[in-house]
Amino acid sequence: MNAFVTTESIFRAIHYQPQEDLVTSFYLDVDPSRYPGLKWKKTGLKMLEEKIDEVKKSDLPEDNRTSVLNDLRSFQKYLQDRFEVRGRTRGLVVVSSSQRQFIETFPLARSVHSRIIVSKEPYLRPLLAVLDDFNRLMVVLLDHREAKLFEVFMGEIREHGDIHSQVRRKVKTGGLEGAEERRIERNLENKILQHYREVGDSILKHFRKGHFDALLVGIKEEDYAVFSGVLHTYLKDRLAGRVNLGPKSSLKEISRETLAFEWELEKQEDTQTLERLIQMVGNDELAVTGLPSVLRSLRMGACQKIVVDEEYQVQGFTCRKCGFLSLDALACDSCGETPQEVENLINEAIDEILLQSGEVRYIHTENELLKKIGRIGAFLRFRV
Ligand SMILES: [Zn+2]
Repeated sequence: MNAFVTTESIFRAIHYQPQEDLVTSFYLDVDPSRYPGLKWKKTGLKMLEEKIDEVKKSDLPEDNRTSVLNDLRSFQKYLQDRFEVRGRTRGLVVVSSSQRQFIETFPLARSVHSRIIVSKEPYLRPLLAVLDDFNRLMVVLLDHREAKLFEVFMGEIREHGDIHSQVRRKVKTGGLEGAEERRIERNLENKILQHYREVGDSILKHFRKGHFDALLVGIKEEDYAVFSGVLHTYLKDRLAGRVNLGPKSSLKEISRETLAFEWELEKQEDTQTLERLIQMVGNDELAVTGLPSVLRSLRMGACQKIVVDEEYQVQGFTCRKCGFLSLDALACDSCGETPQEVENLINEAIDEILLQSGEVRYIHTENELLKKIGRIGAFLRFRV
């Protein structure tokens, strides 16, 4: 079973304080379209083996070398015995410093550029670019007496626990000609409201811990308005809608419905991004489409955000001296060096924009609008 990527593990990686130790960051592309069967495992293990040989021969201080070797061996073991490619898994990132007993594992729903980096702190830029693309959903399933909370992220789901309230199922009737009944009725309504508020408070606590971007509610249609009415403004702002689920739904049903919702939400955001890009290009505003234009803008440091088909790969060339990226093998424009061939120019372009503190938005490959932009485009900081 792969780890669920929690907000806490992301924070721990981000807030890592560099000291004397070294951190090993391991990125592995495991996309089944490129690495069918267990090919990803073979590729990953080979990368690690080669890095182990390299580190053994290096002149790192003894403590550091031992620690890095232990990191690499623990990654081998993890690939060998624990990690699995299933569902939406497309990539893996593990950052570790054995010396500090620090390790965080991030199975990803998107592929990453495979590499191993040893440095003073975790190498996070490409990881964060991927994580930023996904919405974290909080799913609350409730009726008048019970509530269940789930967190959904990158095609995975985890349960947060149940909330039971004190509302009695039945009210004793009789007594004083309806007046008593009405009082009991009101009392019951109050208790339901109180239950809703308790549930709302509990969701708010998760929200304050950064546990979600969007809130999805599984409740009877007739109760939705009342429940959403008692929510804190912060939560109201995050409401993404209602699903036909309740606390009694089976886990299988819950997974299916919520993951489908997450998928739809991603696709909607993809389309919005592409529509905005296309419109801006049409209006001759700060945006470009197509790889040649994106590369040219990148060279000038003008890209704010690259928008790209998640499956787009193209061979190209890069100048190892100055980082110049190009589709052809001509000598580098800026320094005259002979360029080196690279398997995937898109990965290089993404590394470059992240270095320039820009952003990346990956788009699901089946989106029809991708054709209109030639699979890649960019929002610009300034005109080139
Ligand atoms: Zn150059």
